Amino acid sequence: MKINDLIKRSSGALFSIELWPPRTSTSERKLAEALSVFSHVDIDFASITYGAGGSTRDNTHDLVIKLDRQFNLNPVAHLVTASHSEAELRAILGRYRDHGIENLLALRGDPPIEGSGRFEVGEFSRAIQLAEFAKDEFSMCVGVAAHPGGHPDSCSLEEDRKHLAEKLRVADFAITQFFYRSSDYLRLVDDLMHLGVDKPVIPGIMAPTSYSTLQKMAQLSGTEIPATVVERLQPYEDSPEDFKKAGTEVAIELSLTLLEAGVPGVHIFTMNQASTTLDIFEAVKGNLLR
Ligand code: FAD
Repeated sequence: MKINDLIKRSSGALFSIELWPPRTSTSERKLAEALSVFSHVDIDFASITYGAGGSTRDNTHDLVIKLDRQFNLNPVAHLVTASHSEAELRAILGRYRDHGIENLLALRGDPPIEGSGRFEVGEFSRAIQLAEFAKDEFSMCVGVAAHPGGHPDSCSLEEDRKHLAEKLRVADFAITQFFYRSSDYLRLVDDLMHLGVDKPVIPGIMAPTSYSTLQKMAQLSGTEIPATVVERLQPYEDSPEDFKKAGTEVAIELSLTLLEAGVPGVHIFTMNQASTTLDIFEAVKGNLLR
């Protein structure tokens, strides 16, 4: 089902997840374990990331189709403009249409964390162009990325908000980058309202799983980690299980605050970890009025 219809029909907030396509036999096993858990949870949709660097591109397609066919998980395919020609994007979207996939997250793409750290600009240089293309030529329901603290490439928060408002005039919904201050999300929605845009913006929630991963992700996305979160997690830097527990608590508290504020849903960046996601689901499910 199209995500915009799902949001309209739902009497309360949605619970959705992000999955990574596997790259190795070990990550394939981890994903299989996670999927067997997720298929028993009331998940409204699952989005599947796409490697701008190119290594997992076919894996994204295969996982999108698998989620649709084998598991009862409504898929949203991520796709990036980076390194792609218009003809390549047309071929990828055509394949999805042939398989009945209706939802896309249109992105510019980021260089991969590992490897050269570089990627080529595509024939479309901005996500808005892909959003327009997927809607006009493939009638897809299209989501886009939103950055509560502003995108690192933009010259100011104000400029970034204007570009996001432009993107959301075309797209149907947005999913945010992870953040840890609910006020950053509320300010983003408020700024969009002032720019005349009221499309649904679903907050992206990431439970920090280790200090080094958190720092790496924060650096890549330009997300500021508030001092309160650092102080809470730093004592567990050398104690992985305790760190994970404290990180999950941070994610649960943020989700509950946002659900109370009336968000359209919470989107969990699972990193293919079933147990953390399940803990968050168990803690918030009473707040997902269905
Ligand atoms: P855009 O919307 O194109 O914006 C990029 C920059 O250009 C911003 O600074 C923006 O302010 C600026 N800009 C936009 N329009 C204009 C204009 N007209 N004039 C001047 N400047 C302008 N990356 C991946 O590689 N694969 C994934 O699967 C993936 N999934 C993601 C999922 C979510 C929920 C999020 C939030 C991000 C994801 N990303 C992914 C990361 C994303 O690709 C990066 O954040 C990337 O750096 C920007 O993508 P965008 O779609 O926001 O780009």
